[in-house]
Amino acid sequence: MEFKINKARFDQRLAELAKIGARQDGGVSRLALTDEDKAARDLVVGWMKELNLQVHIDQVGNLIGILPGKTAEEPVVMGSHIDTVPAGGRFDGAAGVLAGLEVLETIQEQKIQTRRPIAVIAFTNEEGVRYRTDMIGSRAFCGFLSPKQAYAARGTDGSNFGEELKRIGYAGEFLCGSLHPHAYVEYHIEQGPVLDQQQITVGVVTGITGISWQEVTIEGQANHAGTTPTAMRHDAGLAAARVIVYLRELANSLGENQRATCGTIAFLPNAINVIPAKAVFSVDLRNSDESVLMEAELRLGDFLKRVEGEDGVSINTVQLARIQPEACHPDIITAITQSAQDFDYRHRVMMSGAVHDALIMARYCPTGMIFVPSKNGISHSPAEYTSLDDLEAGANVLCHTVLNLSKR
Ligand SMILES: [Zn+2]
Repeated sequence: MEFKINKARFDQRLAELAKIGARQDGGVSRLALTDEDKAARDLVVGWMKELNLQVHIDQVGNLIGILPGKTAEEPVVMGSHIDTVPAGGRFDGAAGVLAGLEVLETIQEQKIQTRRPIAVIAFTNEEGVRYRTDMIGSRAFCGFLSPKQAYAARGTDGSNFGEELKRIGYAGEFLCGSLHPHAYVEYHIEQGPVLDQQQITVGVVTGITGISWQEVTIEGQANHAGTTPTAMRHDAGLAAARVIVYLRELANSLGENQRATCGTIAFLPNAINVIPAKAVFSVDLRNSDESVLMEAELRLGDFLKRVEGEDGVSINTVQLARIQPEACHPDIITAITQSAQDFDYRHRVMMSGAVHDALIMARYCPTGMIFVPSKNGISHSPAEYTSLDDLEAGANVLCHTVLNLSKR
């Protein structure tokens, strides 16, 4: 029988951290680099010190706690974030950081000395709510964003990243880009309904979604809703509706990892008795496989041309964002699967439909992710919930996965 983490201790740390920025409704508001974030950082750094970890604060405020190994080889790194969205939950991010701490405490209790060091990191501003570039901490950690670029980030509240980081005392000296992990494993709540609905305890993530955001503008002809015969209309609203329906067909035809969503739409002139002259709407396409995501973009482009011809409208698109998906490393997928099997936990492979620090880390070092169920698939909400049994199971898998990786 494999040894387990201490579930009560893990739960207690989760409860303690959730008090910082706690809301009346049970949720948490802990935006990056606010006073609440500072208090949460102080708590986490305190715990890292209690565990006698080597603690480093890097130039963008990432909190790094390292348990030394027998050698000074590249460490196996666990991590996530402790910032939240404005009315977020207790588990998104925090569970990953605290699972990492719990794993390190368990390893010490078991008196295991690993070959490689094992570390846990809390990355700065993952959510990208206060400072709009999301995952600033992991981007800078990997050297994809310079500390100078990070400091210059303007907050949605008019604040400045660099000033706020200094104000809360977390502009550290540890150089970004100076620590290269042997492997990175992120434990995270699924933030989707799949595991909960299928009553599966552990998600073994095979890839992290890429995102293609476009704004589509359709121009037709405004005219009278009563006097204009149907055949003589150039209805931008109808054309938009056709595209929205097509998005669902596109998702259905490209497999379960393809997502396609129209989340916003506006008509002009937006009047009850006028055929829309213009429709402007958003398209969010996601897939964890770059070739399929590109296929989705191409098929959508072809369909837009078809609608232009058939409906007598003109269509323009603007790319708003494009993020390449990243695959998880096969060795880490295998290690996570093995450890879930050793515990006899129900598990399945799946993609991550949300982006995480792991997306950035996957471009820097071999990366994997462990998901635990989100009740009813809810996250970024005070209603976010994962049972303690599931939280424990994920942490047990994390523990044995990093132990395994630390030997290699
Ligand atoms: Zn998160």
